[in-house]
Amino acid sequence: MVAPHADALIGHVRANRDRYLDELKAWIAVPSISAQPDHAADVRRSAEYAAERMRLAGLTEAVVLETGGHPVAYGAWLGAKGKPTILIYGHHDVQPADPLDLWTSPPFAAEVRNGKIYGRGSVDDKGQCLMHLAAIEAHLRVNGKLPLNVKVVIEGEEEIGSEHFEAFLAREKKRLACDVVVVSDTAVFAEDVPSLTTSLRGLVHWEITVRGPANDLHSGYYGGIVKNPLEALAQILAALKDAHGRIVVPGFYDDVSELSPHERAEVATLPLDPAKLANELGVPELAGESARLPLERMWFRPTLEVNGMYGGYQGAGQKTIIPSFAVAKVSARLVPHQDPARVKHAVTTFVQRVAPKGVRVEVEAHGDVRAVETSRDHPAVAAAARAMELGFGKAPVFIGTGGTIGPVSSFDRILHLPQVLIGVGLPDDAIHAPNEKFDLGQFFSGIETMTYLYDELARALK
Ligand SMILES: [Zn+2]
Repeated sequence: MVAPHADALIGHVRANRDRYLDELKAWIAVPSISAQPDHAADVRRSAEYAAERMRLAGLTEAVVLETGGHPVAYGAWLGAKGKPTILIYGHHDVQPADPLDLWTSPPFAAEVRNGKIYGRGSVDDKGQCLMHLAAIEAHLRVNGKLPLNVKVVIEGEEEIGSEHFEAFLAREKKRLACDVVVVSDTAVFAEDVPSLTTSLRGLVHWEITVRGPANDLHSGYYGGIVKNPLEALAQILAALKDAHGRIVVPGFYDDVSELSPHERAEVATLPLDPAKLANELGVPELAGESARLPLERMWFRPTLEVNGMYGGYQGAGQKTIIPSFAVAKVSARLVPHQDPARVKHAVTTFVQRVAPKGVRVEVEAHGDVRAVETSRDHPAVAAAARAMELGFGKAPVFIGTGGTIGPVSSFDRILHLPQVLIGVGLPDDAIHAPNEKFDLGQFFSGIETMTYLYDELARALK
């Protein structure tokens, strides 16, 4: 399975580990905080650093591209005629570093302690971008070529919602044409459990407004003849689920596919202690669809959550009123195959149907983010699994993530391409928090994994 030249490649990346660490430190030293306008020049400098590092890796094209917001660094090597093309995605912007006093070493002066490099952006996502640039460089220096065509996009607005990225993709569709997208901006399930993420949930939401009397009413004078909007809202929300946590909105689960017995058995082998997790979360016990595994509920089942409710009197003491209105904000995480428009319509219709008499109910639906799924049977995912096994010495498990990654949804929506989510962060890396770190074992095994990945993808996609 190992390509004949793999030894030389691995030798190269092992011999250069110290340099990769120095490069990561230099990149971290550029405080590319996309959220803070006074760091805009730093974000640009960080894109220039990325382009410079692409040139050093031997990419024949390496430029900074404008987006209307913070710039993207783009690089390419297209010398493998007739071979497949991959597009590698990462981001070079970082989260703000506050609160500064909680950092053991300064966030932008990275330090190695106990086999980990500490600094803002170390794992999210400069270090993970660098894994690819180091692997590309190894192929180009050792062999003078890559086994396939490579394009690299390193975005500058991921941490602020990738505002300009979808338009960028649409505009640069031709330049970015490829066979598969490789994203390295995720974590593995746990240390020593290499993992590939194969599904992400989508997102839609609603605002439900229940209107009663034109003004708040005296509950003594009018109590008994007017329907209370807060009570009506509570009835509506309580009607959404049954006692077993199942959403009872007709059609809600229509397009949801069940895990195969094999997939469910695999999820069941992942270490998760419900009592321990409940304790960490500060709840007496876990809730939700009682017939299903917690990880299945977190990754592969849709949700319907009340995110906020307001109405009536919220101040000190008592105010005996029948409020004039009540509002709830509700959202759903969607799983693969669910159509956001259908789900929005199903819930809106249901809310109107169960609304009690005596109030008027308005439902506004928003959002359009579909879940993203890459079949584990896709040749690119199988290739990534082989590469990870070679890099980490252990076959990866397939995991989902309950959250939504904007750029991944955008690639899905604009380019309609399979995506391989191959990140190597650890769950305790403190991304977005003080003392963000990247475990050097993960970093170096990640570089070796990417070195194998290009060979495996070239073979799998041809
Ligand atoms: Zn990230």
